[in-house]
Amino acid sequence: MVSNDRCLFCRIASGEITAKKVYEDADVVAFEDINPQAPTHVLIVPRKHIPSLDDLTDADAQVVGTVLTRAAQIARNLHLESDGYRLVINNGEAAGQTVFHIHFHILGGRNFGWPPG
Ligand code: AMP
Ligand code: ZN
Repeated sequence: MVSNDRCLFCRIASGEITAKKVYEDADVVAFEDINPQAPTHVLIVPRKHIPSLDDLTDADAQVVGTVLTRAAQIARNLHLESDGYRLVINNGEAAGQTVFHIHFHILGGRNFGWPPG
């Protein structure tokens, strides 16, 4: 499945639903989280609809690698790398996943505790 017309993040990626995009290319879209948990809170999603980590197959290795390297590039573009930042994937309901289209949270601009809540 390349995209899912009922999925919120597929609809943001296609432009059907508006978001504050900070980066996009042929493979990924990054946009500001609507409910930010840090001074900088950006979500990065592949254009391909993959519901969660549980749905990944070896065929997705390239797209996942691209999302990760683009996330690091976006963090540098947002000048987060000097102080540090956190990349988060919530996988499944107990971990807090609410949108079932795989995404990294890029969080920066404050200190983060460990272990996470
Ligand atoms: P998760 O809970 O890990 O699945 O993350 C989903 C994230 O999507 C949450 O942080 C929400 O605040 C965010 N979110 C939900 N709807 C929108 C939207 N329309 N635009 C931007 N971010 C959204
Ligand atoms: Zn989707």
